[in-house]
Amino acid sequence: MSDCLFCRMVTGEIPADVVHETGRTFAFRDINPQAPTHVLVIPKDHHATAGLLVGADPQLLGEVVAAAHAVAMQEGLVTADGPEPGYRLVANTGPAAGQTVHHVHLHVLGGRDLGWPPG
Ligand code: AMP
Ligand code: ZN
Repeated sequence: MSDCLFCRMVTGEIPADVVHETGRTFAFRDINPQAPTHVLVIPKDHHATAGLLVGADPQLLGEVVAAAHAVAMQEGLVTADGPEPGYRLVANTGPAAGQTVHHVHLHVLGGRDLGWPPG
């Protein structure tokens, strides 16, 4: 979609600080980080929400989650042996959750004690 910010980052039209890429996924640092590690992981194809993505292409949602885990490993948030120190995946969906970019993305957050419940 030519008017979608994240689609334009996938094509390189808008710059991104890319940390991980596969054939169908793309990951880059959030411009307004909320934690020492804050990376956004997206499918290269445009889908508005996780729910719409899983209906259209469940395999691709799996690839996005796998890419998020690979980013967490790369950032030292988990090891091959276990989930320490850990990280959080967030998929804001709709206005009540504060979704501002309508191209599905997983926030990978880590590098500090994230607390629970979120604010
Ligand atoms: P959400 O509120 O869940 O839709 O998240 C959208 C995220 O995109 C926010 O955390 C923004 O900081 C981030 N963002 C917006 N523009 C850019 C950009 N040009 N590069 C990287 N991250 C961005
Ligand atoms: Zn898009």
